[in-house]
Amino acid sequence: MRADDCIFCKIANGEIPSATLYEDEDFRVILDLGPASKGHALILPKEHAANLYELPDELAARAMVVAKKVASVLKDGLKCDGMNIVQNNGEPAGQTVFHFHMHLIPRYKGDSEHVRVTWDPGKLTEEDKQELLGLFS
Ligand code: AMP
Ligand code: ZN
Repeated sequence: MRADDCIFCKIANGEIPSATLYEDEDFRVILDLGPASKGHALILPKEHAANLYELPDELAARAMVVAKKVASVLKDGLKCDGMNIVQNNGEPAGQTVFHFHMHLIPRYKGDSEHVRVTWDPGKLTEEDKQELLGLFS
């Protein structure tokens, strides 16, 4: 299934050309056009899902296997020093393209001036802890 006006559906299914690093029956992995660092890649399922919540379990599981495979080739080939795997859901979380995707962002020593995947740590309150534990009980 694909969404008619979704650019990542078109890229994933080959209707719009892309720099493709890897492709299989279910996924295409492309180079991000606005890379955070050298090697920044995006894992796109060929089937449309707006976000993680909509992604079928089977594809969610396979996406991580693809991430491992591609991250390993990038790591060995680029000799990068680290790798962030980022996946944004919803505008407040930074999602700008509403077709599920995972970012693979190779990290290099000293790159934190222009690559930031970070937050200011808060403090876990007792009230929040109890509320959150309650969600799963
Ligand atoms: P997000 O903010 O998580 O939704 O990420 C969207 C990513 O897609 C950004 O890093 C963009 O640079 C990238 N992007 C948007 N359009 C294209 C495109 N046509 N080809 C490759 N990357 C794209
Ligand atoms: Zn789509």
